[in-house]
Amino acid sequence: MTSSKNSKDLVQGDMIYEGKAKRLYATDDPNKTIIEYKDSFTAFNGEKRAEMSGKGRLNNLISSAVFEYLAGSDVPSHFIERIDENRQAAVRVKILPLEVVVRNITTGSLCKRLGVQEGIKLKRPLLEFYYKDDALGDPLVTEDHAILFGWSTEEDLFQIKRMTMRVNDLLKNLFSSLGIVLVDFKLEFGKDGSGQLLLSDEISPDTCRFWDSSTGDRLDKDRFRKDLGDVLGAYEEIWRRLSERNK
Ligand code: UDP
Repeated sequence: MTSSKNSKDLVQGDMIYEGKAKRLYATDDPNKTIIEYKDSFTAFNGEKRAEMSGKGRLNNLISSAVFEYLAGSDVPSHFIERIDENRQAAVRVKILPLEVVVRNITTGSLCKRLGVQEGIKLKRPLLEFYYKDDALGDPLVTEDHAILFGWSTEEDLFQIKRMTMRVNDLLKNLFSSLGIVLVDFKLEFGKDGSGQLLLSDEISPDTCRFWDSSTGDRLDKDRFRKDLGDVLGAYEEIWRRLSERNK
């Protein structure tokens, strides 16, 4: 049976999609895909770009370790296993056109949009949905928008909210044990061939804000967005702490 085949034996086929940070390939198993992490940085809807050698490897290592940790707590996801430094095997899913953002501390677009102060610890996690559409600049939308325009069903949204809150609890614990504050992050969800809802995409310093618990140093893509310098050093530091945890 092809589905029980070791992912390292998957035969990589044609590229089916190229995004800003990853390439997706078909494989000889129609239910599986290979995700390759690129060395590109983009921000501000693709307006700011850079190439940094080694970035794809770090995000692949970090995201794989995070998805493995979540699998240990039975969070259903697309992740199968890491294949090599830049690639991982994943279940082939159809991604819902929604970005699900969780915020534990105020920063970023929330402060810009609403004029609220940066660094406020929220009484409970704040959940936001953005409609994935580059031409529209991924606008903030309500649950009603998502349901009424068919970007998700009410049932899927219910599951998405439950899974997202659980992932937030699990990741807050994981990163706090590494001396890192999980400030906010973005999740994406997809549906596999049988219609099961799976946590998808990546979880990395590109998609999360990580602040060092003792120094407050930014250890994420804000170093690139705001030209803070030593961008890869921050990614390397996240990987160092995650990998040492498993030793
Ligand atoms: N985020 C993301 N992809 C996006 C937009 C946001 O991964 O297209 C992540 C971002 O890294 C941060 C969180 O979602 O961890 C909230 O981002 P925010 O809305 O503050 O947007 P930004 O300031 O990045 O424009």
